[in-house]
Amino acid sequence: MIPLSSDTESKPTQAMRSVMAKAKVGDEQKGQDPTVNKLLEKVCELLGKEAALFLPGGTMCNFIAVKVHTRPADVIFADHMAHIIRAESAGVSFSSGVMVEPVESSRGIFSSGELDHAITKATTVPNPYSPIPSLVCLEQSHNFGMGAVWSLDEMKEVSTMAKQRGMAVHIDGARLMNAVVASGTAAHDFAALADSIWIDFTKGLGAPMGAVLAGSMDFIKEARRHKHIFGGAMRQAGIVAAGCLYSLEHHIDRLHEDHVNAQLLAKELDQIDDVVVANPYPETNMVFFKSRNESIDNSTLVKRLAENGVSVGQIGNNIRAVTHLDVSEGDIRNTIQVIQQAISA
Ligand SMILES: *Cc1c(COP(=O)(O)O)cnc(C)c1O
Repeated sequence: MIPLSSDTESKPTQAMRSVMAKAKVGDEQKGQDPTVNKLLEKVCELLGKEAALFLPGGTMCNFIAVKVHTRPADVIFADHMAHIIRAESAGVSFSSGVMVEPVESSRGIFSSGELDHAITKATTVPNPYSPIPSLVCLEQSHNFGMGAVWSLDEMKEVSTMAKQRGMAVHIDGARLMNAVVASGTAAHDFAALADSIWIDFTKGLGAPMGAVLAGSMDFIKEARRHKHIFGGAMRQAGIVAAGCLYSLEHHIDRLHEDHVNAQLLAKELDQIDDVVVANPYPETNMVFFKSRNESIDNSTLVKRLAENGVSVGQIGNNIRAVTHLDVSEGDIRNTIQVIQQAISA
């Protein structure tokens, strides 16, 4: 099977596994796991933040960050296709009791004007009738925005407005390193615009689990308390952290190959009459497309591709293909052929 349904399908390599097997470990909950501590140091350096926290996954990073930045009955802002809104089971409403006001955007990237519009809507009538705006959430790169990347200027504009209005800024950086490699902007330059930010190790970086949330000392002190409340405190987590450390050293630069493969896939699919590519020029590692053949809808196409060894997923009205370290250029060329056959048969 060519695993294009998500970059979470990437498997730990043999080299990563052997580093994990030899990891020095301790009690992570007590701050005594040397490998976890080393990982936190590295991520603080990478993101230019004071402190960091190791968590089982990115969803928990979002939940904890929202919890620390808000009080119940606040309103937070995220673009209308944000992972926080569309793919986390309304968890922030459950765990933080906040309302999420969706911000209109194209590709998940919004302007200060669009943010202003959402703030105006959320605070239509003054206190005590309106919720209190406390947080703006950004996603870099943007998943359901087809892997779109915020430029530093776009992000600065929105971050500046958030701060002027007394709100904190949180970056969901599940694929931050894809954005860094694609834009050539350093991770710490994006991170400097936010009060909290996290990166995921289970997407393009190819580790089996783990995410790191970073911010100020005070932010992380509070976040650590909530890590216990959310059940995210671990024990000999160094085994996992070793895989994350390995991925920071070996799997960042190669993300460029994933982007080139996504561009190749998009370009070739765009040549097929019965296929509509929503992002013919992918910014990072995702291609969104759909069937234009009236007798083959998207779900039929997805099923046919699976029968022919290509795994892709459905996102809204589109099919999504995501490239990563377990997808080679050869796999992409095979995928193009399989899609061509499946859509014309
Ligand atoms: C995958 C993803 C998450 C959740 O991360 P997990 O590690 O799977 O919990 C959050 N935000 C975005 C944009 C994602 O792609």
